[in-house]
Amino acid sequence: MQAKKPEGTEDLFGARMRAWQAMQATAADVFGRYGFSAIETPAMEQVDVFVHGIGQSTDVVRKEMFRVFSGQNFANVLEAGTDAKLKPGKRLALRPEGTAGFVRAAVENTFVPQGGAPVKMWYAGPMFRGERVQKGRLRQFHQVGAEVLGAPDPALDAEVIIMLMDFYEELGLDRSKMRLLINSMGDPACRPAYRDAVATFIREHADEMCEECLVRADTNPLRAFDCKNDACRAVMADAPLITDALCDECAEHYAKVKQYLDEAGIAYEEDPTLVRGLDYYTRTVFEVQVTEGMGAQSAIGGGGRYDGLMELEGGKPTPGIGFAVGFERIMLALEAQGVNLAGPEPTCVYVVSAAPECRDAVFRACLGLRRAGVTAEADYQGRSMKSQMKQADKHHARLCVIIGPDELAAGEATVRDMRTHEQRSVPLENLACDVRDLVNDDAFAQADFPA
Ligand code: AMP
Repeated sequence: MQAKKPEGTEDLFGARMRAWQAMQATAADVFGRYGFSAIETPAMEQVDVFVHGIGQSTDVVRKEMFRVFSGQNFANVLEAGTDAKLKPGKRLALRPEGTAGFVRAAVENTFVPQGGAPVKMWYAGPMFRGERVQKGRLRQFHQVGAEVLGAPDPALDAEVIIMLMDFYEELGLDRSKMRLLINSMGDPACRPAYRDAVATFIREHADEMCEECLVRADTNPLRAFDCKNDACRAVMADAPLITDALCDECAEHYAKVKQYLDEAGIAYEEDPTLVRGLDYYTRTVFEVQVTEGMGAQSAIGGGGRYDGLMELEGGKPTPGIGFAVGFERIMLALEAQGVNLAGPEPTCVYVVSAAPECRDAVFRACLGLRRAGVTAEADYQGRSMKSQMKQADKHHARLCVIIGPDELAAGEATVRDMRTHEQRSVPLENLACDVRDLVNDDAFAQADFPA
């Protein structure tokens, strides 16, 4: 049987892999300027990390989490029909997002000591959600995210949003084709009353709304704003708005965030119905959407403040804020805008063996070139010289080193510029250094060369 990759997953290689690497390099660069360092947490965590952090009532936890059981545990769970008897440490899930695991790591490693400065970290990696697969919506997808812990200052909210917009621009996305939506979701002082008001509103319109929204009225009423059902949308258009229900502190915080964004010249739209899907958000929330070429999945990133999350994960109360962006959706947006994030295929120097007896010298030449820092390729299949030259083109070689019997006897190699077809002889003993200098020569590196 020939196995296939699981539905909603992807093998990353070639140009797409280079694009993913380019995105991470851009993140390291842009986020580094804002004082962020990198972190990698495990791809699986205890289920409780997500239940506490994301919320039992969210779709992500209720329906979309991939559970993980090791050997004997799996057998026990199958037999018992439930995992209720497993110890918490054995009840594992693949991470559906990065923040809960990051906060778990922050608590476990005491990232925020008493009076500590804000901790700023970013991550990149695969996330897993058992969703209905469609364009831009996968079961294993990749996110780049950033998190700040330790300060409630609205300047941080603004800086994190500005950093996110810098990141998109650096990736090559056109600012005029993106919408930045912002909102405040209030805090424990004002949100409960607002939630109740929305729940009451839904119940008052029960006969016009879908079954799921009626359940949401009891579990997570704000999620009704995200319902895709047209009738529910029409009803929710008249629902009470959080902006009218914010307490003074939250209203002031929100005003400050907007002031800083204005100062930075960042255009945004206020959307009082923006309630992000995960339970942990407080105050500032934001989402970035692309306006062209994306179909239904137009959100390319989002995040918000989560001042209560550290406590939910067993830590001391510590404010936090962060965001995550999706690699696959950004790729769709970049493709729609004609931007190639992957860049050209890397070039190499191709070393050609003009006769079988030169093979060993080719081996030595490749070794010397690579050790001098030059990317070198050669033939391993005894191809003819003509076919090796074709291979050189396939590898986008800008230079070929040709070693034939006559050259070998003279202790030389021929170096051929594949663009101009100019050739010169180089002593084999100087080959690595000469080729390295040539490849590193700016004029040579920048010369227009058909990819
Ligand atoms: P979220 O963690 O749901 O706020 O998602 C943050 C970003 O991750 C979204 O804006 C998307 O770009 C991306 N994303 C979320 N879920 C998926 C998915 N199933 N497939 C691909 N990208 C996703």
